[in-house]
Amino acid sequence: MPDLFIDGAWSAATAGGRRRITCPATGETVGEVDEASDADTRRAIAAAAAAFADGAGDWPTTAIMERAVRLDRVAAGLRRDKDQIALAEALDTGKRLVEAECDIDDVASVFAHYAAVGQEPASGRIVDTGRAGIDSRIVTEPVGVCSLITPWNYPLLQASWKVAPCLLAGNTFVLKPSEITPHSTIHLIRLLQEAGLPAGVGNLVLGTGSGCGEPLSTDPRVDLVSFTGSLAVGRQLMANAATTVKRVALELGGKNPNIVFADADRDAALDNALTAVFLHSGQVCSAGARLLVQQSIAEEFVDALVDRARSIRPGTPLDPAAQIGSLTSAGHLAKVEAYVQRGIEEGARLRCGGRRPENPGLENGFFYLPTVFDNCRAEMHIVQEESFGPVLTAETFATEQEAIALANDSIYGLAGAVWTSNQAMADRVAARLRLGTVWINDYHPYVAQAEWGGYKQSGIGRELGDHGLAEYQEIKHIWRNCSPAPSGWFS
Ligand code: NAD
Repeated sequence: MPDLFIDGAWSAATAGGRRRITCPATGETVGEVDEASDADTRRAIAAAAAAFADGAGDWPTTAIMERAVRLDRVAAGLRRDKDQIALAEALDTGKRLVEAECDIDDVASVFAHYAAVGQEPASGRIVDTGRAGIDSRIVTEPVGVCSLITPWNYPLLQASWKVAPCLLAGNTFVLKPSEITPHSTIHLIRLLQEAGLPAGVGNLVLGTGSGCGEPLSTDPRVDLVSFTGSLAVGRQLMANAATTVKRVALELGGKNPNIVFADADRDAALDNALTAVFLHSGQVCSAGARLLVQQSIAEEFVDALVDRARSIRPGTPLDPAAQIGSLTSAGHLAKVEAYVQRGIEEGARLRCGGRRPENPGLENGFFYLPTVFDNCRAEMHIVQEESFGPVLTAETFATEQEAIALANDSIYGLAGAVWTSNQAMADRVAARLRLGTVWINDYHPYVAQAEWGGYKQSGIGRELGDHGLAEYQEIKHIWRNCSPAPSGWFS
């Protein structure tokens, strides 16, 4: 069966492009898919534009409760097919199967959340103008045709944060996942089809940014570009979108501070410092890759962390003993290796890792050992730039003010944590951090009900929560004069 989905039908790439997908943990082929060209993307945009038809298509005019029913069906389908989808995602990304299973649970929760939101009473607002005979109200409407572009680290989760609110709001879309991890997204489109989404409302193109992505941010028929990925590509898409003043929603990178005060619960802080940075081999936008630890406990804390990091076991997706999977591509592994080399040259002290593992059975995968640097300084490239790999940098601070200043010394502002048993200090620090998410005595949890997004160059806009839906809505003010009369302005 062909793999592009355009105007309600599965379709092959017009230029005949194909791409082989390999598991980055084993090097084995896991599938081959159609690879779209710009012409295919334009076909998909045309289908989405026709289905939207200036807001008069079937989908935008379907009652929101009915749209919510379709999302609920998708959530049920995700739960039913969880094993199959999780396996596909683990093999595409090289992550452990158990992690992929958790991700698919989260994907189902996102669809279920927005399905529930759609069942709530409409939130149109009456404006009291203070004038007799005037009926003034605020309504929300869909934005139009949306380009949804997603990365390879959490392929279906990132897609769900976009697709569910986009559809609930009544928009139509063209979705492009990362070219190296397409399989779970293809499955999602099958579920949308099964849920009865009208033709043209949800379209899928597969391929690279340069091969088929360009129209997603340049075609005048696109009204909104929602992108999750790197800062460099985000900047480019924003510039492209400016030409026709499209809306943009950007979820970009992070270099996230994890602040540990001396009075923190030491076991909890240590254990979570490992999860913060090494979960999914550090390929997490909110990874706590920048440890800031108070001087009085720094030596002991980092020594203990290095011991624990050395014992983390890498392995393939189906290995039940594995604690960490592979990196997602050869190119990404090379990037992480170069970044570590630069850290050494800058004078940071490599405490563990800094190389590929030598375990038998991992030779064909893009594995990299958990890596810890200490003696780091804020101005180092390894402290400021996102490696997106299993690399932790440790810096020390003396005072609360210094911790805040170091944590905010970044072009990014996505997420971070503060560990302390002093509640008042935790609240003060949380208030001063220029981050979209702050965890206190925790790291990584999120819920579909709470907004996610970045300050500064970590992005624009929010996903999840009420604002994650508002990204996909226009706001219209309707003013009705119930007793029309001449204005008298020019009399
Ligand atoms: P990337 O920017 O290389 O690619 C992301 C997507 O954009 C892919 O689908 C890619 O094919 C597509 N793309 C690239 N150029 C394009 C173009 N010109 N036009 C249209 N599409 C184009 O990012 P990546 O390497 O896949 O993902 C890693 C990055 O994603 C990291 O920087 C990470 O921090 C970020 N990320 C952020 C969040 C968040 O919530 N803030 C979540 C996950 C990942």
